[in-house]
Amino acid sequence: MTAGFSPWQQAAYERAVTSLDEGRLGHALLVCGPTSIGKRAVVDHLAKRVLCLTPAADGEPCGRCRSCTLFPTGVHPDLRIVTFEMNEKARPPKMRTEIVIEQARDIGAWLALTPQLGGAQVVIVDPADAMNSPAANALLKTLEEPLPNRYLWLVSAQPNRLPATIRSRCQRLELTVPGRAVALQWLLDQGKSRADAEAALAAAQGDPGQAMLWLENGGMSVRRQVDADLRAIADGTGHAVEVAQRWAADGEVGLRLRFAADLARERAARLTDPAETRRLARWFDQANRVRDLLRTTIRADLAIAGLLLEWRTGQPEPRTGGARRA
Ligand SMILES: [Zn+2]
Repeated sequence: MTAGFSPWQQAAYERAVTSLDEGRLGHALLVCGPTSIGKRAVVDHLAKRVLCLTPAADGEPCGRCRSCTLFPTGVHPDLRIVTFEMNEKARPPKMRTEIVIEQARDIGAWLALTPQLGGAQVVIVDPADAMNSPAANALLKTLEEPLPNRYLWLVSAQPNRLPATIRSRCQRLELTVPGRAVALQWLLDQGKSRADAEAALAAAQGDPGQAMLWLENGGMSVRRQVDADLRAIADGTGHAVEVAQRWAADGEVGLRLRFAADLARERAARLTDPAETRRLARWFDQANRVRDLLRTTIRADLAIAGLLLEWRTGQPEPRTGGARRA
């Protein structure tokens, strides 16, 4: 077992290594799987393996050669990571949200160079689905002209966003969500309590990487807060407009809407009344639409207030019998 790997990372890594050892690992690999499943760690270790100058008998990186020593420094001469870069032409300079054609052209030019340490050369594009069309087109040329000992690995949580021409030229390595028992045991092994692990795993629909992320970055507390807000609006103790302003006030608004939609879906699954189930299904769609709208220039608090008022409207009259509050 590779240090720090989960069982599903190990399984993917071993599949790649078998292909590599049998000479079946093409130069282009598309590594896919959910966002937080741990794709990049697998790819990084695979890179360390093919770049190692004096690998162990089983092919694992030695950890001592020049390549292995340079690897963690981020300045390995034969490893290139292609990801979002600063757009220096923008005023003020800002981080790009796409991988652009210049970066894709650089990949081809760089792979044509001689490896500096005399071993292999590895390019990792992460996230590969962030390449815009000109970049993807430019990369096609490189994919069509493989060179020995040169590896081009594309990492993507949304491989369907890549052009079919790119996908068809890559071998696929998939990291899949494990069964519940394996996922739960892994979270327990990471030191999480059973209650926390079970709640997070349910929220993440079985994806242990996502569950772990939400346990570590406060996502689960955001979810509990969203649940409490929705309950308060439903029973008339919470004000839709006030909650909307609070939701829109920080960087977590997209996550809050995702949790709100998920909570509506979970609630619908527990219900037997078909009319209420349909209403929640509509609300689920509406919450996702508002989430999409956040990318536009729309006033987030207004869109969310409308959504939350809708949530309130479908509820039975509050027990206090007072007028409905917005
Ligand atoms: Zn080494």
